[in-house]
Amino acid sequence: MNGPVEETDLPDLQLSQGSFQQIWETIMTPGEPNIPHVENEPWSDLDATLLPGASFQDGFDENLFELADPAEPFPAPLDSMPPPASTVPSTIDYPGEHGFQLRFQKSGTAKSVTSTFSVQLNKLYCQLAKTCPVELLMAKGPPPGALLRATAIYKKSEHVSEVVRRCPHHQSSPENNEGVNHRSHLIRVEGSHRAQYVEDDSTKRQSVLLPYEPPQPGSEATTVLLNFMCNSSCMGGMNRRPILTILTLETSEGQVLGRRCFEVRVCACPGRDRKTDEEGVNRALNGTKTTKRKVPQATPPPGTSKKTKTGSSTEDEDRDSIFVLQVRGRERYEWLKKINDSLELMDHVPPADQEKYKKRCSTKNTKKGSMAPKNGKRLLTKEEKSDSD
Ligand SMILES: [Zn+2]
Repeated sequence: MNGPVEETDLPDLQLSQGSFQQIWETIMTPGEPNIPHVENEPWSDLDATLLPGASFQDGFDENLFELADPAEPFPAPLDSMPPPASTVPSTIDYPGEHGFQLRFQKSGTAKSVTSTFSVQLNKLYCQLAKTCPVELLMAKGPPPGALLRATAIYKKSEHVSEVVRRCPHHQSSPENNEGVNHRSHLIRVEGSHRAQYVEDDSTKRQSVLLPYEPPQPGSEATTVLLNFMCNSSCMGGMNRRPILTILTLETSEGQVLGRRCFEVRVCACPGRDRKTDEEGVNRALNGTKTTKRKVPQATPPPGTSKKTKTGSSTEDEDRDSIFVLQVRGRERYEWLKKINDSLELMDHVPPADQEKYKKRCSTKNTKKGSMAPKNGKRLLTKEEKSDSD
């Protein structure tokens, strides 16, 4: 043998306490491919796509996040002041000395499910404003007064500097907003009067703080109920941009004791979307290793896509990409537009409501007879008779 194969494992990020720049430089080699590729290890490709911000392409731009000059010593923090919030919060999992971990209920991918978590993709799929239980596990209880903070940030480097907020429509809508002062916050904590909604003075990032409660006797975890108050597709809000949720365990002074991070997609059909995403990843893992990127995708001819694709494309990106279709003739255009509008609408209506609507429509149609099948004519005449009676 010629000695061991070159080690290309990613560094142990959990133990890393380096600056964002150091971490960036360690895991992101400039140019393509940006993640080391190992033959005969089918998971290496997957891991790369699952890394938060794996689509980061270019070398680290020092000015991008206005980092302080490394040569300049950081001002010593005052004892009474909380540490200043980072411009870009870290998304690196850090169990810390308390062994901070998250656990999600196994909800499966049924059509009716309102919240489901993919362990494979480290991604939560949920419906707007529906309860998402998250269990907090700790090997060692945190100090008294510890807090839990939930913050949302955009996953992709090109959006990460923008603060995640609710879209104007959902902020101003009376629905879900009765007596609520924190209308602009995407993440809410349900069922606790002790939740505090804060906005950082300098970064303007919004988060919700909750005093940490130890597990009740007999249980090993504390459950927190999160709500996400916009769809991922909301125009003027997330606008189809993927987000990450960061949960940090902090001291009452704001010192981070532990951190966990997961992706979130808020959509009408969490079960369906999770299934689609997982199937896509599994397909990529199983069959297409040799015929890489030759999977038939709805890729438009060059120059017709509004979105220029960068880096590895996932099912999720494909689904949320905008494609342009050129149609000849107004009539045909109007028809296709109608179909597209309906599909867009369906994305915002949970399956349960869709069923209700369909039922209502079919009874209405049977009564009117407008869409009733031909052999329903008899029924129609009956109804008419009873009406004229
Ligand atoms: Zn919205």
